[in-house]
Amino acid sequence: MLQDRHFIPLKPELYNDFGCPECGTHGPEGVRTMVLGKQTAAEYRCGHCGLAFVRDLPAGFTIDMPLAWRLSDKHPYLPEEGWVEDWPAYPDYQVPKTSRYNVQRKVFRTCKRIIILNTIDHLYGHVLLKLFNAQHYLDHHPDIGVVVMVPRMFEWLVPDGVAESWVFDIKLKEAWGWNNGIDQFVQEQWDRYDEIYLARGYSHPEFTKIDIERFTRVKPFNLADYGNAPRSVTFVTRRDRLWYPSAFAKFIHRVQRKLGLVPITGAWLQDRLIARTIRRIRRRYPDVRFTVVGLGKQGGIGMGIEDLRTLHMDEGTEKTWCMAYAKSQVVVGVHGSNMILPTSHAAGCVEVLPYDRYGNMVQDISVRYDDRMQLFMYRFLDEFAEPADVARHIVSMFKDYETYRVDNRVNIF
Ligand SMILES: [Zn+2]
Repeated sequence: MLQDRHFIPLKPELYNDFGCPECGTHGPEGVRTMVLGKQTAAEYRCGHCGLAFVRDLPAGFTIDMPLAWRLSDKHPYLPEEGWVEDWPAYPDYQVPKTSRYNVQRKVFRTCKRIIILNTIDHLYGHVLLKLFNAQHYLDHHPDIGVVVMVPRMFEWLVPDGVAESWVFDIKLKEAWGWNNGIDQFVQEQWDRYDEIYLARGYSHPEFTKIDIERFTRVKPFNLADYGNAPRSVTFVTRRDRLWYPSAFAKFIHRVQRKLGLVPITGAWLQDRLIARTIRRIRRRYPDVRFTVVGLGKQGGIGMGIEDLRTLHMDEGTEKTWCMAYAKSQVVVGVHGSNMILPTSHAAGCVEVLPYDRYGNMVQDISVRYDDRMQLFMYRFLDEFAEPADVARHIVSMFKDYETYRVDNRVNIF
């Protein structure tokens, strides 16, 4: 089988480059692969102590946190070093779900050697980030068919060139826990192939190498047009994580939510902040086109903006939003997976970064540049940033761009 650190062997040999969690003997015997859902695991048997156990394979968001449990009683084995979430102890893993999801196997190219990219996850951003891994395998290993396991709502993002896609009618929240139904489907496919690998599904693929057009079919903003294209700014809003004017406003909003009240004030205040930012920018650049996207009701921000917010998501809406990002020099939003596609298509961004997200900084930004332009094009502001602060950065991104570009991209060795 192929020896490559980006490939985890599953068939005919099953990855076993680790020690038995009970006695430490290296290289337990692989029995079978098990796709639990977002985790891909495998069953093993130790040739020395006889322990039968299941172990998480080193892929996806638990790549460095392999957990194992004894097959007989689910006794967990945690890694010796570092903190790890003991997910096998959760009820959703203790008792596997058995429902069979409606799944469609779409074959574009028949391959006997495949690599499975399991993008199933209960978090939107995680699915997206894992899916971007497809490009590496498509470009560097054309002789091995890429098989993407994908939730239905992400199918539109599967790039051309994959050998197969296994499309699951599974909601994000259903992707949490151990789903036997998913595993059953995978087992039924197993004999079709001679050689099977698992893709690593790295959580933070190198974005400067990702060609987003291959995923969304929308051409991203071309930096060469930055000064010539009509000035455009898109606000990316969400209702579950808001841009608040103050810590007090955030507190009140949280209390409302706890009490089960419809937390409309938070979204209303956010609309006010956006409206004030727009007014500030217009003072300097009256010609800027403004667009607002996100899950939410339209209206309330003011005249002369393109309001693309909706409560009903579908593929058409996803594409329309991507086209809005792609014509924007700047996208503006609060930190989160909601910023991945906007920054994949726009030239730059201004992001409001909540205090509790400092450790996740830039993880949601599809950084498109590998030089000093990064610092110019991606601006991060405090949790309770004032509209004047956001506007000041955006005005600078229009006003100072050309000089900055020439100084840092042209007049250098
Ligand atoms: Zn052992």
